[in-house]
Amino acid sequence: MPQPPDFDVAIAGAGIVGASAAWHLAGAGLRVAVIDAVGPAAAASGASDGAVSVASKKPGPLARLASAALLYTRVLSQGGPLEGAFHARPSYVFGQGEAELAAMDALIAKLGQIAGPVRVVADGGRGLLPGLGDSVERLVVLDGEGHMPGHKAVRAYLARPGITPVWPAHIHAILPDDTGVTVDLGDRRLRAGRLVAALGVSTRDHFPDLPVLPRAGQLFVTDRGPADALPGSLTAAAYLLAKTETPAAARLPPVVIDPLVTGQFIVGSSREDHGDPSQVDFATLRRLMGRAVDAFPALAGRRVIRAFAGIRAAVADGLPIVGPLPDAPHVLMATGFEGDGICLSALIGAEVARMARGLGPSDGIAADLAALSPLRFTPSRQEGRA
Ligand SMILES: Cc1cc2nc3c(=O)[nH]c(=O)nc-3n(C[C@H](O)[C@H](O)[C@H](O)COP(=O)(O)OP(=O)(O)OC[C@H]3O[C@@H](n4cnc5c(N)ncnc54)[C@H](O)[C@@H]3O)c2cc1C
Repeated sequence: MPQPPDFDVAIAGAGIVGASAAWHLAGAGLRVAVIDAVGPAAAASGASDGAVSVASKKPGPLARLASAALLYTRVLSQGGPLEGAFHARPSYVFGQGEAELAAMDALIAKLGQIAGPVRVVADGGRGLLPGLGDSVERLVVLDGEGHMPGHKAVRAYLARPGITPVWPAHIHAILPDDTGVTVDLGDRRLRAGRLVAALGVSTRDHFPDLPVLPRAGQLFVTDRGPADALPGSLTAAAYLLAKTETPAAARLPPVVIDPLVTGQFIVGSSREDHGDPSQVDFATLRRLMGRAVDAFPALAGRRVIRAFAGIRAAVADGLPIVGPLPDAPHVLMATGFEGDGICLSALIGAEVARMARGLGPSDGIAADLAALSPLRFTPSRQEGRA
């Protein structure tokens, strides 16, 4: 017979998604353990840019959920855990050439359909923002988005009383049964009523039937300079193309330049189909740097002080996986956020916490959240579709 639960909910993974779920569950008075092989923000959440962006999201459920997530992130940053982690700033999308300019038209149409917190305030030439390079043919200026370093948000969420940290502790096996879940940590076992599996790219170690694939991304950070050198993020429209059905159209590097509150810039990021975070190479960085400097020549005077890679957890159909496993309903999946997890984390943490408490989704997002269900990968569903 399984032992009685040590915790109401065990969270596997102390990335931003697991940390947000833990914060929401502890706030509802549940006994929560967060288990991580290394510690907080050890994987993608500590190696990302941190743009909280609706503009960059794939059209459809993801873009609408990102819009709701942005609104909720703002709420949590006003006297809540994300105060000091999230900051609002304008976003600029630039483009050159036919494919990028068409992607900018699609962006404006998408934001118009969502009618959410992000609005287009200007659409014109490079003259809209001082300091842009000659290669920039068109600039769209957006208001309403922001930036949030993943590691800051993770630490803020996990500081909530009522969360039991369990790290470093490698999860060897996740063993669900009819009444709960046992987690095998090698030297001991931990029992919980439910488990939230927020394991990022390591999802495939425990749930090999789910089509989660590694997608590496390289980034670099510059030295400090005037904090107001660039008032907001500068994103190549190729980045929007990279997230559509026709990523091959993104022939130019999908660079994103984000100014940090320290006066540094974080510049990213490549998209590579492998899972090795130690692969950082000059050729890839030079491609990113080249386009970044073309778009914003003042960058040429900055020194690169750090380059690194992170691994995104990508899903075959481009949507995250969120919800109970059909054959093990005490296991709630929250994974596959690819390049969108920082943006979505506040909302997803809240919704996963609702699921763990047996509550339905928040108002207005039920259909979009249902589109993320792991049910879409069950063989019977797939046969039904064929
Ligand atoms: C280069 C790059 C740029 C990005 N830019 C952005 C951006 O601008 N905006 C945005 O919204 N998103 C961005 N992302 C994506 C974002 O970082 C991720 O979607 C998000 O961090 C995923 O969080 P997570 O909690 O799901 O997973 P992770 O942060 O990967 O956390 C998973 C955790 O599980 C732990 N773990 C794994 N296996 C085990 C095990 N067996 N036992 C115990 N613990 C285990 C790991 O140690 C890790 O801490 C970017 C990602 C990359 C790589």
